[in-house]
Amino acid sequence: MAKYIFVMGGVLSSLGKGIATASIGLLLKSMGYKVVLQKFDPYLNVDPGTMSPFQHGEVFVTDDGAETDLDLGHYERFVDQALSRASSCSAGQVYESVITNERKGIYLGKTVQVIPHVTDEIKRRITAQAEGNDFVISEIGGTVGDIEGLPFLEAIRQLHLDLGNENTLNILLTYVPYIKTAGELKTKPSQHSTYKLREIGIQPDILLCRSEKPFEDEIYAKISLFTNVRKENVINALDVNCVYEIPMNYQKANLPEIICQHFNMKSCPIDLSHWQEFLDNRENSEGTVKIAVCGKYVRHQDAYKSIVEALYHAAARLKKKIIITWVDTERIFDNGDLDKELSGIDCILIPGGFGIRGIDGKIAIAKYARTKNIPLLGICLGMQVMAVEFARNVCKMEQAHSTEFVEDSPDPVIHLMEKQLYRKLTGGSMRLGAYTCKLSEGSLAHKAYDTLEISERHRHRYEFNNDYRQRLMDAGLCLSGVSDDNLLVEILEYPANDFYIGVQFHPEFKSRPHRPHPLFVGLLRAAIKA
Ligand code: GLN
Repeated sequence: MAKYIFVMGGVLSSLGKGIATASIGLLLKSMGYKVVLQKFDPYLNVDPGTMSPFQHGEVFVTDDGAETDLDLGHYERFVDQALSRASSCSAGQVYESVITNERKGIYLGKTVQVIPHVTDEIKRRITAQAEGNDFVISEIGGTVGDIEGLPFLEAIRQLHLDLGNENTLNILLTYVPYIKTAGELKTKPSQHSTYKLREIGIQPDILLCRSEKPFEDEIYAKISLFTNVRKENVINALDVNCVYEIPMNYQKANLPEIICQHFNMKSCPIDLSHWQEFLDNRENSEGTVKIAVCGKYVRHQDAYKSIVEALYHAAARLKKKIIITWVDTERIFDNGDLDKELSGIDCILIPGGFGIRGIDGKIAIAKYARTKNIPLLGICLGMQVMAVEFARNVCKMEQAHSTEFVEDSPDPVIHLMEKQLYRKLTGGSMRLGAYTCKLSEGSLAHKAYDTLEISERHRHRYEFNNDYRQRLMDAGLCLSGVSDDNLLVEILEYPANDFYIGVQFHPEFKSRPHRPHPLFVGLLRAAIKA
């Protein structure tokens, strides 16, 4: 039978529950256990895909095409395993199921209530992925005390009662602030969050206490006394320079053993040498590589979380320190401005996006990179912009555009493929999730990937217009990646340049610290001319 671990948060948000959950997953997986991670979000949105990146950060996409919270990105990067739609659940989805059941008459006319109907649906989703796994690790979004979170915490309380202490474990992540004027670490907020959790009927088994200063012995004792958590289960989760250090820190704090002991399971040796190698490379980097990331959400860098991580992974592989300059494409540049804006830059990345804001800036940047032979990676909208720029400035179709922005463009090089066979996934008209792509032999993409068939994740509506394939190719563009059936252009590149690649998919989702994505490594390698 699978064991259940619940990760909850107290005191305040942004303490890194996602990273904590991901780290626990990595440690248990490294012991040889089968784990699955899932995130429960108390907000009422049914579809995280429609939430603003300005507020919520990146939308992470799974292989099976679910649009999810960015924490799933942490889970996949740490645990190095593809998760599915079942690993992401919002309160909105729970309520939607309950109301659909009610409409179908499944509750036989009973009064439909939070307890038991909503909590039963949450319990069903928590336990749905248990089969074949040793550990089901569930993170509950939000902070203890939030009204929205109550049904989730109630479901956890009930599961503890249903399954017993030996099958469930509650972890609370809290914050122990250092108050400068008192010169002390303060434990009261952690005590209060624990009281709040106990009011609901949940006693935490482990406290992960974030702090900027290390705990003295008496702090452990005090927290333990007031929270009713065994002293050795109070763990000081000190601030780190790099989130990838956290699994090792938990390992040093004995967390994997504490978890195994609780469940009466065997604690096995953990080998994190591949992680250590990544950290060492990062630490011992020599020289820098400067990249301009040119998008419209640049003031909200969580919107590009996976891209930033993928850049760190690739830079560590090359033992370089990456310096990211964020360029806001909403300002429309002329060439003079771009010279200033991009001075000293070694390479450029144009990420994905939706909507017309910043489009002209992106087109100008694509032209700048192409004409000056600056290595460029265009992702999704970035790739579409590269096609538009090439059609306009090389093929002389001055009004070429994507029909996302100009519906009646005379040269719609990017458009909607109405009868596309691929639009079969739910979620309306988006192409979502993993698709196979075939690469052309000898292309830049082939060299980077070192294989002729890849699988990458998509999230977009618009596609390269096949009517323009020949004209763009005649002008020197190489369409180096196509779908299995050759109906869709997935990669374009300009072989005259050192590295000028646009991809219709999102390579950033598959980058791992110890296995950086080949396109990111390729981009940075071209940038440093290695
Ligand atoms: N807006 C574009 C489309 O829908 C690109 C989407 C993206 O970059 N993820 O096709």
